[in-house]
Amino acid sequence: MSEQFENLVVPGPTITAVSKPFWDAVARKEFILQKCADCGKWVFYPRGICPHCWSNRLEWTPATGNARLKTWGIVHRPGHSAWLEVTPYVLGVVELEEGPTMLTHLLLDPDQGLQIGLPLQVSYTNCNDVWLPFFKRKSE
Ligand SMILES: [Zn+2]
Repeated sequence: MSEQFENLVVPGPTITAVSKPFWDAVARKEFILQKCADCGKWVFYPRGICPHCWSNRLEWTPATGNARLKTWGIVHRPGHSAWLEVTPYVLGVVELEEGPTMLTHLLLDPDQGLQIGLPLQVSYTNCNDVWLPFFKRKSE
């Protein structure tokens, strides 16, 4: 299912100094998140200060890449025309096993009984030479 994205020329992520470790890890097919060394909470999206306790001691830490479907939408008319050839596709918010939520592309068939709580796992997808952390149905 993810092969259809390889030659898709779409705008890539905007990588900043703060988010670069995340994107570098995704390119290595590793899923890491920031974890606060003071309060112990996980943080996503990447940032400089913990949103829970305002500590600046956020440390990149290996995460499971497991999640559950929280909500989704089926895209028929994408915001950027480059995505048109893979429509319809599913975008959703997933709740990562570590707690934070993440907006992502879901490698799910829009017609196949999507439901809140569906177990998912990260699926590293090459999209025009950029690796993106999409999510797919968790394999048993
Ligand atoms: Zn904290």
